[in-house]
Amino acid sequence: MALEPFTGEHQAFRRTVREFCERELAPHAREWDEREEFPRELFRRFGELGYFGIRQDPAWGGSGLDFWYVVAYVEELARCRNSGLAMAMLVQGEIALPALADLGTDAQKREFLAPAIRGEKIAALAVSEPDAGSDVAALRTVARRDGGDLVVSGSKMWITNGARADFLVLAARTGGPGHEGISLLLFPTDVAGFQVSRKLAKVGNPSSDTAVLYFDECRVPARLLLGEEGQGFGYVMTNFQGERLVAAVEAVAAMQLLVDDALRYASERRAFGRPLAAFQAWRHRMAEHLTAIEAARWLTYRACDLHDRRQVAVREISMAKLFACDLAQEVAYDCMQLHGGMGYVLETDVARAWRDLRAMTIAGGTSEIMKEIISKQAGM
Ligand SMILES: Cc1cc2nc3c(=O)[nH]c(=O)nc-3n(C[C@H](O)[C@H](O)[C@H](O)COP(=O)(O)OP(=O)(O)OC[C@H]3O[C@@H](n4cnc5c(N)ncnc54)[C@H](O)[C@@H]3O)c2cc1C
Repeated sequence: MALEPFTGEHQAFRRTVREFCERELAPHAREWDEREEFPRELFRRFGELGYFGIRQDPAWGGSGLDFWYVVAYVEELARCRNSGLAMAMLVQGEIALPALADLGTDAQKREFLAPAIRGEKIAALAVSEPDAGSDVAALRTVARRDGGDLVVSGSKMWITNGARADFLVLAARTGGPGHEGISLLLFPTDVAGFQVSRKLAKVGNPSSDTAVLYFDECRVPARLLLGEEGQGFGYVMTNFQGERLVAAVEAVAAMQLLVDDALRYASERRAFGRPLAAFQAWRHRMAEHLTAIEAARWLTYRACDLHDRRQVAVREISMAKLFACDLAQEVAYDCMQLHGGMGYVLETDVARAWRDLRAMTIAGGTSEIMKEIISKQAGM
């Protein structure tokens, strides 16, 4: 990897994403949080701009670009200042669609991938269940064969985009217990027996919908199985790599923005006759954070480089997710503290970021699970 991974083309693309986020999204960031929803049409807007197909095959409407374009996109997306919106869009483009792009048949891609890249269909990844989050192999939703159909029964929990999704990339049990019995399938949400039980009221990311889903004898054609039957657990684990890497990139970008904002505030806000930036305690705290963020960025870039070259990077990705998402908690805490009373008022970006970033050590694999993976990789 070159020490500067971004070419002039990557940077030009980055500028267009930044401009879009600052002009069209950020001015509405608070309003969408207060409404606990962002407009559905934004999926189409992101589709028009090509953001759901950055790496995807042009045959399905993608741009066929490398992973560093995705990194630039995710980094700039933080500037929309609405973490729920960013999460929803990343679930569509970088979390639900990659499995479909990797495993889908041409017919499946025509029916689901192409319209999702255009932003016409909303996608969700439905793996977690009320009794199976970290322990994916314990999932109980069943997809039973009946003639040429699969009959799905069970429930899913915490599904981002779940209330709005037109289709799910669904993990369900087609065989016996344990990880061997799990398959992935495409599940259109207009099937009889499917129900969005409720939208969960969350601590943060209020503009994104996170839903509990219920399946009561839902019949879908068996041609919607994704990849090979019984290989779903491995597919989910592979898909987690992209999801966790994107989370690390997102966390680094969010931290950088928080510190940039805090430095600006510290130079403007005065106490005891001087700007906050004149207090050594704050200068040193921010210097520590800038150093740690730089370390998180380069650990993450190392994982991005391996991922871009399609090398196995389970260790590096788990480390990047763990380090960046844990660090984000500390950075958000201090940046909020530096803002004093305004740091506790939801009209400031730092207050909402502190609240929203909390999800990052939980979603997509908890920090404890990252430590499990890293220690296993170390032979412990
Ligand atoms: C905002 C948000 C969005 C989400 N979006 C999606 C989505 O789109 N699709 C989807 O499928 N899921 C989604 N999830 C679910 C998420 O992936 C799970 O919540 C997460 O994997 C943790 O699972 P759990 O909640 O069941 O916690 P549990 O597995 O019950 O864990 C509880 C605690 O025990 C710890 N723990 C568990 N096992 C171990 C172990 N072996 N060693 C040490 N500690 C352990 C955990 O780290 C955690 O601290 C989302 C969650 C959130 C919060």
